[in-house]
Amino acid sequence: MLSSSVAQYAAQYGRTPHLAVIIAGDDEGSKSYVRAKARASAETGIRNTTIELPATVSQQELCDLVQSLNADDDVDGILVQLPLPEHIDSCAVISSVALEKDVDGFHPLNVAALWQKRPCTPPCTPRGIIRLLDAAGVEIEGKRAVVVGRSNIVGMPMSKMLLDRNATVTTAHSRTKDLGAITSEAEILVVAAGSPHLIKADMVRDGAVVIDVGVNRTPDGHLCGDVDFDAVAAKASVITPVPGGVGPMTICSLMENTVECYLKRMNNVAGK
Ligand code: NDP
Repeated sequence: MLSSSVAQYAAQYGRTPHLAVIIAGDDEGSKSYVRAKARASAETGIRNTTIELPATVSQQELCDLVQSLNADDDVDGILVQLPLPEHIDSCAVISSVALEKDVDGFHPLNVAALWQKRPCTPPCTPRGIIRLLDAAGVEIEGKRAVVVGRSNIVGMPMSKMLLDRNATVTTAHSRTKDLGAITSEAEILVVAAGSPHLIKADMVRDGAVVIDVGVNRTPDGHLCGDVDFDAVAAKASVITPVPGGVGPMTICSLMENTVECYLKRMNNVAGK
């Protein structure tokens, strides 16, 4: 359990890991993610400081805040909740986070390290999915994997991490022709499109492992994934529900990334 390790580290190093989360604006989805991160921090024994800013915050103010957290020796991880208000250049803000405190794994140097197979802080959602596959005893090596979605935060790093585990990977996207023909070949299918019930049973191979990353809100206010769960569950050997599948694994990875950043910093201080 991560919480018992955290208690042990806190005793050893004289302070607990500290995660700072910045949220700008009033997006309800983002607020609920930030609350879930605070809850998970409390459960793990990680100190959490959530800083709420108005949607009108300027880019300079946001970057200044990040700089002050970068300089704060008491802060081990910095997470800027996305999306940011439209007038802000997210890339510039993320790039301003100190590399050693980039718990999201979105800093350009972390991205480069992932693609160059060098040590890095991996992005939380793909890390959580690999953990989930391993925990379910799914062999990845040699498998045909299809990832639907090519975003920087899920689809692309997911494809890369499956490739690094020796799967044969196809990345599909909104311009992919005959998506069903591609997904039907997948022994491992990861869907991160943000399109409710995009994947139907006839698009899935018998016995496939199906990982649904999508989080969509139905008109009646319920959450649903990108996969038509009931119909696909009848064909899949493993399938993750929404909510309750990938989401908790993403948060679990965030906690792990925070503790790893803390440990690296503590060991650097000890080594000086
Ligand atoms: P983006 O909108 O950034 O990317 C979506 C990707 O899916 C794009 O590459 C897009 O293609 C592709 N796509 C969209 N529609 C289709 C379609 N009909 N057929 C094939 N490909 C399609 O989203 P994110 O990657 O940020 O997130 C994806 C989903 O995962 C969202 O629902 C999000 O809420 C959820 N999510 C869940 C997390 C969790 O922890 N559970 C964490 C992060 C995200 P193109 O590039 O051509 O536009």
